[in-house]
Amino acid sequence: MTVGLAKGASSMGHLGWVSKRCRVCGVWVDLTGGVGKTKKTLAYYCPNCAHLHESYFCHACARKTKYTCPYCGTKLVLVTPLTEA
Ligand SMILES: [Zn+2]
Ligand SMILES: [Zn+2]
Repeated sequence: MTVGLAKGASSMGHLGWVSKRCRVCGVWVDLTGGVGKTKKTLAYYCPNCAHLHESYFCHACARKTKYTCPYCGTKLVLVTPLTEA
């Protein structure tokens, strides 16, 4: 299911997703927040329809849509802090 960037995924307890493409601009967003990299990435997703539309968004696009899902209007949720354990 996950394409690339699977390093350390199993040791992290296998979240089921590590990277997704932003539905707006197509950029890869690292759902781990870029842990271990110099650049931190903020990723957002729609809790209502992410399972239907792969509704993941990069920070820039989330800001453009006013943190609202363009598909269903649900408020977007920040994904990345989930892995800060
Ligand atoms: Zn984007
Ligand atoms: Zn949605």
